[in-house]
Amino acid sequence: MQKPCNCGATMHIRLRTVIFQNKVEIENVPIYSCDDCHRSEVFPPVKPELTGYIRTLGPKPEPATVSFGDLSELAHLMQMATSKEHQHRSVESIVEDRVNELLDLLLLARSLEDGAWAENVRHRLTQITSHMTTTYRLS
Ligand SMILES: [Zn+2]
Repeated sequence: MQKPCNCGATMHIRLRTVIFQNKVEIENVPIYSCDDCHRSEVFPPVKPELTGYIRTLGPKPEPATVSFGDLSELAHLMQMATSKEHQHRSVESIVEDRVNELLDLLLLARSLEDGAWAENVRHRLTQITSHMTTTYRLS
């Protein structure tokens, strides 16, 4: 989870708080940052969720604090992977557990014929699986 910076140093991913219009605090946003030149950028795969959320806030948002992990599955997984209780586990096993958990939720949502919920869970699964090298079957 690192990439080269324009200055030649290495950029690392960290979970940061992004403050929008001095009002809305979005916690745990994965951001690439360079310790040498202090350049930073949002981790590209989570950009659609972040910009999508900011768009829903409108031009005059109410003060609020949200956890980006509630909006982005990848951010949620990174949050889990960096938390103390999971520090001895591999990212792969955390991802696998989360995918299994979401598949259970999907079955439950479908058995209750709750289309909106099923769609929400399916969207969360897609956020994970479209950025993972392992292929999961979502039949
Ligand atoms: Zn740099």
